Amino acid sequence: MLPLRRTISALRASTHERYARLRHRLHLLKYLGTRFHCPLCDRRFGRLQPSGATYTLRGVPVDHFTANSVCPQCGSGIRHRFIFTFLQQTYGVWPADLSILHFAPEPGFAEFFRGLRNVRYVGCDLQPCPERGLQQVDILDIPFPENSFDLIVCVHVLEHIRDDLRAIRELHRVLKPGGKALLAVPIYGPTTFDDPALDFEQRQLMYGIGDHMRLNGLDLQAKLTEAGFRVQVFSTDDVPGDYMDHAASSPHIESDKYLFWCVK
Ligand SMILES: [Zn+2]
Repeated sequence: MLPLRRTISALRASTHERYARLRHRLHLLKYLGTRFHCPLCDRRFGRLQPSGATYTLRGVPVDHFTANSVCPQCGSGIRHRFIFTFLQQTYGVWPADLSILHFAPEPGFAEFFRGLRNVRYVGCDLQPCPERGLQQVDILDIPFPENSFDLIVCVHVLEHIRDDLRAIRELHRVLKPGGKALLAVPIYGPTTFDDPALDFEQRQLMYGIGDHMRLNGLDLQAKLTEAGFRVQVFSTDDVPGDYMDHAASSPHIESDKYLFWCVK
């Protein structure tokens, strides 16, 4: 490219970036206030962006519309802020020299983990994703020896796995004794519904998303225990903080309400 063209192109790009930044700042004006705090971008807002979708669960359309759901700055959802707040409150001061295995890393989490002192952080995904620094890992056959990690974070992954008990056993295997796994899946009531005979379209009707293999219930705890974990279940009611509107309710909030804190 000629030098003049290169200069014009660079000027256009920087003008475009300035406009994008200005647009974003104007967009944030709508959310001014202090009622909510996003722990991931550490910003306060008077309200959050709504989220909405209609899923067909057990053959019945269910409206998941939720006010005050998405962070207007970083895009985090309620479950991300809930889980991050839980980890911050649980660890208090993060120890140095942690080894962390993180499946399908959520934006914001990965940057935070990478910034811990002397951390050995492995972000991974089933798909190769070197541009995000992720290692390709099949959760059914994790390529690490047993007793490798202090902390595993695996959020909204297991519902995609046909043989989730095998995946859970793999998570248990690669954790060090005393290590912790933070696991979360969408939860729909006390009891799991799982019919391996359903095809993609049928799963879409029953589970809302064809890629989901079941509707998990709180009885997932029994499966985690079967794999050898000591399990505590925490809900958004147990974790204080203005990362969400605790008085609000919606099918979306209900399904993302729980996390499973598993100790090897
Ligand atoms: Zn945020």
